Amino acid sequence: MRSGGLSIRVPGDKSITQRALILGAMADGESRIAGALRGADPLATGRALAALGVEIDGLDAGEDQVVRIAGCGLRSWRSPSGTLDLENSGTGVRLLAGALAAQPLTAVLAGDESLSRRPMGRITGPLRRMGASIRYLERPGVLPFQIVGGGLNGIRHEGRVASAQVKSAILFAGVGGGVGVEVREPRRSRDHSERMLEGMGVEVVEGAAAEGWLVRVPEPPPRLSPLQMQVPGDFSSAAFFLAWAALVGCGDLLQLEAVGVNPTRTGLLPALARMGADVRVLGRRSEGGEAVGDLVVGGDGSALHAVTVGEDEIPGMVDEVPILAVLAARAEGVSRISGAGELRVKESDRLAALATNLRRIGVAVEEFDDGLEVEGTDAPLTGVVESFHDHRIAMAFGILGATPGCNIRIDDPGTTDVSFPGFWDLLGRVRTWWESMGHGTWRPGPGKRQPRSVAQDARASAVAGSAGCTVVAIDGSAGSGKSTTAAAVAGQLGYRHLDSGALYRAVTLGLLDADLAMAVETVTPADLEALDIAIEWRDAAMAVRMRGVRVPEEALRAARVTSEVSAVSALAPVREHLLELQRAAADGPGLVAEGRDMGTVVFPDAAVKIYLDAHPRERARRRIRQRGGSAGAAEIEEEARRLKDRDERDSSRSLAPLARAGDAVLLDTTHMDPRAQMEAVIRLVRSVEPSP
Ligand code: C5P
Repeated sequence: MRSGGLSIRVPGDKSITQRALILGAMADGESRIAGALRGADPLATGRALAALGVEIDGLDAGEDQVVRIAGCGLRSWRSPSGTLDLENSGTGVRLLAGALAAQPLTAVLAGDESLSRRPMGRITGPLRRMGASIRYLERPGVLPFQIVGGGLNGIRHEGRVASAQVKSAILFAGVGGGVGVEVREPRRSRDHSERMLEGMGVEVVEGAAAEGWLVRVPEPPPRLSPLQMQVPGDFSSAAFFLAWAALVGCGDLLQLEAVGVNPTRTGLLPALARMGADVRVLGRRSEGGEAVGDLVVGGDGSALHAVTVGEDEIPGMVDEVPILAVLAARAEGVSRISGAGELRVKESDRLAALATNLRRIGVAVEEFDDGLEVEGTDAPLTGVVESFHDHRIAMAFGILGATPGCNIRIDDPGTTDVSFPGFWDLLGRVRTWWESMGHGTWRPGPGKRQPRSVAQDARASAVAGSAGCTVVAIDGSAGSGKSTTAAAVAGQLGYRHLDSGALYRAVTLGLLDADLAMAVETVTPADLEALDIAIEWRDAAMAVRMRGVRVPEEALRAARVTSEVSAVSALAPVREHLLELQRAAADGPGLVAEGRDMGTVVFPDAAVKIYLDAHPRERARRRIRQRGGSAGAAEIEEEARRLKDRDERDSSRSLAPLARAGDAVLLDTTHMDPRAQMEAVIRLVRSVEPSP
């Protein structure tokens, strides 16, 4: 791990945890599972098993606690008194149905609204053929259904799609019922069940077969040995952070510890490598029959390339398609994902959910029956994303939203608990770590004209249409380059330039001259009226008039004004007094308004919001240069301290504090010259301008 790097852990693997719970409940003796996922899905499975009479201990404790399952043999479960509600868990309901088919009992399986839309025929078909009696209680093919198990016969099953859930359900039924089973799939699906069964003493035969992959349990043993295992970190959860690292380009500074790298799960890695983000697996080892390693994203952190992923690759990355589509939105070129029709029957119709949401934030997407085409863009991406009750949709867009140049809100962030409790906290931690190292801000890419979303168009025309004036709000710390950038942008676009700081400075000057500043709390609206502050527009540039005379720039910038202005601008009557004056500046084709609360208070509906920042020393250097002073090390330190004090006062006040608006794009100008700053802002404005 490089110095300054961060090492994180993702929760335990969902697929493995689910299987461990069910198989542990079928074993003879106590299974001990360390690192089990405490997501909503395995918790629902755990509750269902408890209702079947299985004793499970420790699942409701933290992930550092070992889960103990008291297995009493293959066919020892009892009929539950109520319905078994698997909530959102497709794996839970399908695998449990397989295990229940072998048990001589009656149970009703149900799920939440989203699970109740997903197809169940693909498992109830083969289980019925094995001899289980299954009755759909409301509509054919979907939950809820009643299952009466026991007395099974063996089968040979040929699946049309590669599905680890179908395969596992049949294997569990075969093992539970003591009958041989064979499953042929068109492609190999994840093989955690096979590995665990082998570890429990079951002979599993598998290999390539004509047109696909064959798995067979010829002769299940009369009993299963209990499991003793450490659940590896979930690759599907890790994938989100790999994607984030690839998007921000943090190289091998971010390490994901102890992640499962079972080759039937890591199909995303070759696709990432083709995009230019080569993931390295360090310290590869084996834990409980599963390959485990620590992951870092290699590559040089430069732009990602578009990628094409076809049918053959989908089974190995079926849960990663959402995050891949999101990566494609930031890759150069058009990415194509095909052969992924299976995604339409996941926790949501993931293809539709991805297309809808990508479009909503401004990405051009084409949706096909079995896939998507996504056109990458480096324009700012903004909007509210609908999770469709799907954890992976919420997380994929959450990751994108945590990268520079994006402002994305997820309608239902809590849905991530299904597979990744603590996702948002971990993402916040990683983001804070990266930003604390001076990164995390938007840097514009090569200047191609960006596609625009309907929402952006609508928003731009609404803003431009109602007031007839496009407002660009620029906020930021002292000396971050606001004035220079705002003036240059306004000049370039033919917009007005509002320097709101000059108004606060004028009030301060007026109060100082009137000797009122010493008792600032007592300032009244009448005192402020008496100053008679107004803006004088000369073309697009403003000057401040006070008591009928123009205030010279030098007077506004005088040291005594600078040292008092933060105290004066914290006063409610002062802020109130200047509000309408500032809003009235939004007249004509456009306005570039700069200050501390432009995007948050004065122009909350601004078409574009930008928050500028720069390293304190660089800001100090700029200030000193502006004043024509010499920038020695001591002067820089002194000025940096003054700027920091002022920022602290401005951001800690209760009224209109210096703050980045939720939908403002953060732009770090430390290494940007004034021209680059201007161009970056202009590109942002262009990206939301209505089409000509
Ligand atoms: O931008 P400038 O350095 O001229 O701003 C001077 C001061 O005016 C800031 O430190 C802040 O206290 C106040 N100010 C404000 N709100 C604004 C602009 C400036 O409170 N919108």
